[in-house]
Amino acid sequence: MSAVTTPERVALDVHAALHAICSTGKGRCWYCDLKLPLAEKAITAGWDVQRVQKREPVASIILVCPSCLRQKAKLGEDEFLRGVSLRVCNATC
Ligand SMILES: [Zn+2]
Repeated sequence: MSAVTTPERVALDVHAALHAICSTGKGRCWYCDLKLPLAEKAITAGWDVQRVQKREPVASIILVCPSCLRQKAKLGEDEFLRGVSLRVCNATC
């Protein structure tokens, strides 16, 4: 078993970010669109906040729900994203 490393990961105050996003009422999982519960629940459940570096000077922040985190860890990012795009396709095609 090799350790999974995420070199692009930027240190971020997840708790503070979850509280901030919760207060907007617009928090949803980036991948499956699950609605963010209350901040305390989200923290306990294991929701994650990740920063995505884009070309623009402003970095975006995305939310990831616990089940997507687990799937992503299990399948690896590429395979996981393939599954996500397949689901999206099935829903719209
Ligand atoms: Zn999700």
